[in-house]
Amino acid sequence: MSNEQSRQSGSGLDVLISGGSMGGLFTGIALARSGHRPAICERSAGALESRGGGIVAQRNIRRFLSDHDIVDPEEITTRSHERRFLTESGDVERAVSETMVFTSWDALYRQLRDAFPDERYRTGAEVTAVTPEAAAVRIDDGTERTADVVVAAEGGQSSTRAQLYPDVEPEFASYVAWRGVVDEADLSGACVGAFDGTFTFYQGADQLILAYFIPGPDGETAPGSRRLNWVWYDTLDGRDRGAIFTDTSDAERRFSVSPGRLRDPVRRRQRERAATLPPVFETLVSETSEPFVQAIYDLTVPAMVADRVCLLGDGAFVARPHTAAGTAKAAGDATALADALASRGSVNDALAAWDRTRTEYGAGLVARGKEMGDVRLNLD
Ligand SMILES: Cc1cc2nc3c(=O)[nH]c(=O)nc-3n(C[C@H](O)[C@H](O)[C@H](O)COP(=O)(O)OP(=O)(O)OC[C@H]3O[C@@H](n4cnc5c(N)ncnc54)[C@H](O)[C@@H]3O)c2cc1C
Repeated sequence: MSNEQSRQSGSGLDVLISGGSMGGLFTGIALARSGHRPAICERSAGALESRGGGIVAQRNIRRFLSDHDIVDPEEITTRSHERRFLTESGDVERAVSETMVFTSWDALYRQLRDAFPDERYRTGAEVTAVTPEAAAVRIDDGTERTADVVVAAEGGQSSTRAQLYPDVEPEFASYVAWRGVVDEADLSGACVGAFDGTFTFYQGADQLILAYFIPGPDGETAPGSRRLNWVWYDTLDGRDRGAIFTDTSDAERRFSVSPGRLRDPVRRRQRERAATLPPVFETLVSETSEPFVQAIYDLTVPAMVADRVCLLGDGAFVARPHTAAGTAKAAGDATALADALASRGSVNDALAAWDRTRTEYGAGLVARGKEMGDVRLNLD
């Protein structure tokens, strides 16, 4: 039976997913629930959940969790009820009533990973090449696999995207995000009180910092056991990007230095700069034992589908974090792919329709992120 016939007879498609982070798991779960047979290859051999900070739990992420009976979103989210802007001296300049829902990358990842069967999730398996017209992939152990559709959910440094679009490169936005999480139990009552229930911001001339509570390391949401997550956007101000992104092993990273890997002089310099922040943010930064840093960049592909290969999530479009939409976009791509395959006559028609709508959405989001970031960081 041909692939097309097997699909039309209702037996579902074989879908090979490269990348087992958020985008790969959203896709695997959505497709499995629609009667397809997804299998994930993730290149990391170790656990992914030991890294990561806060995520805005947009409505479509919460809906994904409840629609697929994964977890009641209430169990892994925290809320703020006010967006608050501080002056440099720490007074409240403006407060707007608004409910926001947050989770942590590790809590969400763990729920998605638990909802996807182990026997279909292979670790330590890197996809090294794709043949789009045959929906075939080569894996770094030397084996080849063929499916009906290949989904590359490989993140911003996707090698499949580089193979399909060798001229498309992530574009550095000229600023970085310093980030950290601190256990609530390690903070003073005054510091906890200053941030509790709020989504707090300080906007300086060429910097922006924000903070919100996220679940604790094991997903705890009760006051006392949560973590406070901060993100501090800052221009390089003449500093050498290469020096900042050279980690404790002396390797120069292109996009991020993970928690615990920042070199001492880099950490010291950033702590000194924290003196320009409102005191409560300065305290937060100095109480963070393992800050990390990521480069802010933009990425846009001309199309998300090439024959039977789909680029999904950050592998296709990276919008700046101001949009708070990276994970929500990955969930949206996955849900839309399952819907398109369910409602279109042929696989090719389904992929073409998905490509049109999601490419337009991704490109729009990247453009919005650029505008937001350039205004906030005072860049032109
Ligand atoms: C460890 C980790 C921590 C993160 N923490 C945060 C956070 O705290 N806050 C936040 O907002 N965003 C975080 N992100 C980014 C966030 O997950 C993404 O922006 C968004 O969810 C879209 O996810 P994605 O699956 O498209 O890409 P990513 O999350 O970047 O995942 C790509 C995955 O593909 C794998 N991969 C790459 N190439 C190959 C290949 N050739 N073969 C097989 N596997 C491959 C990678 O190992 C990775 O697991 C994190 C990402 C990772 C990987």
